[in-house]
Amino acid sequence: MKYYNLKDHLENIDFRGATIKGQGKEKGLFFPETIPQFTEEFIKNLHQYSNEEIAYQCMRDFVGDEIPSEVLKEIVAETVSFDIPLVKINEQISILELFHGPTLAFKDVGARFMSRCLSYFLKDQQKKVTVLVATSGDTGGAVAHGFYKIPQINVVILYPKNRVSPVQEKQLTALGENISALEVDGSFDDCQNLVKQAFSDEEINSQLFLTSANSINVARWLPQQIYYLIALKQWIQHHKEQPVICVPSGNFGNICAGLLAHLRGLPASHFIAACNANHVVPDYFITQNYLPQKAVATLSNAMDVGNPSNFVRIIELFGHQFETLKNKISAYSIDDDKTMSTITEVYEKYGYILEPHSAVAFAAMEQYLQENPDQKGCILGTAHPVKFPDAVEKAIHTQIEIPESLNELMKKEKKTVEINSDFEELRRFLLHKI
Ligand SMILES: *Cc1c(COP(=O)(O)O)cnc(C)c1O
Repeated sequence: MKYYNLKDHLENIDFRGATIKGQGKEKGLFFPETIPQFTEEFIKNLHQYSNEEIAYQCMRDFVGDEIPSEVLKEIVAETVSFDIPLVKINEQISILELFHGPTLAFKDVGARFMSRCLSYFLKDQQKKVTVLVATSGDTGGAVAHGFYKIPQINVVILYPKNRVSPVQEKQLTALGENISALEVDGSFDDCQNLVKQAFSDEEINSQLFLTSANSINVARWLPQQIYYLIALKQWIQHHKEQPVICVPSGNFGNICAGLLAHLRGLPASHFIAACNANHVVPDYFITQNYLPQKAVATLSNAMDVGNPSNFVRIIELFGHQFETLKNKISAYSIDDDKTMSTITEVYEKYGYILEPHSAVAFAAMEQYLQENPDQKGCILGTAHPVKFPDAVEKAIHTQIEIPESLNELMKKEKKTVEINSDFEELRRFLLHKI
């Protein structure tokens, strides 16, 4: 498969190149040249396939012959090596629990796929790669875990000081080895800006081979389509109608992957982008004007994004047709008060514990279903409640248990380097400390 740069369609690259480089000239995102279709057979018989087979069928066309099929099979097996159940919350809404992976976040899937592809592509080379990534909370842990001890790869993670939860912080600061965590005195947008500056700094790029592990990288973005197939596989066993799919959205990589799967033939009656108080995209659907904003801090901190980088891919997917896009997707903005009352209500009514991101999705789905009462759907549960204990415990007035898998981690020491949001400090670190 070839990919083109959305900023310069003449720049073409294969899957290997796109995985290693991350982004193209002028910081453009890569986009697949064709949208390979699922066969009707495959979609109709999804329930007969294992998750591994689904993942393989989903990714094969995007990788082509650049990774031998036995190796790709191993990679996808490791990518989906945990449970992804679809759980019914009430008569109308189910949740796809994507948080049973090693860092209890859906980002484990993309991070595991990408790290293993990158490792395969670098295997016979001298080249050392530095993965530079900004995180609002969950990406850091998933990327750190996905790349931990992978030869020839150093990982540098920037995260906003005091804006990630204790479990999130431990997941990205306690590993050590080839993983460095930089604690930035600033917001997630500041972290993202620092990363962008590093990518365009000549001296840094002459010394290091930098790549990104944010969802701008196709090897992290594309495997997220797998969630939607696994959701549908379970959905069709209980429902005749197509589902409404609601995705808690920040950088819009996840929902964009869902839309891609839909355009390849995955049935879904409608998509909902559920946002927190950062409402650039909901505003866009009203005004048709895309106006990036400074991110504001919310309880669902992994979605505190003021300029979602994948939105350009969504526009491209829909051929820049605003009306077509608007017919397929609705976007809602849910504030922190509504997020909290949703966690409380869902716990009291149905005994299910949501965390802030899934609560934003649940609230958005409820709003949509009020206007479309004959529909049913699923929300994507993107993180485990234990990653956001303060909000959850306050909302349900009950303590949540830390899963056993985290006990070891929580005892480990945090190792970070503190920097301010001035680029010079990051520059010095990259040039002299790794
Ligand atoms: C990253 C993240 C999101 C947002 O996903 P995008 O692909 O950036 O839209 C939602 N929920 C959680 C828990 C996350 O970590």
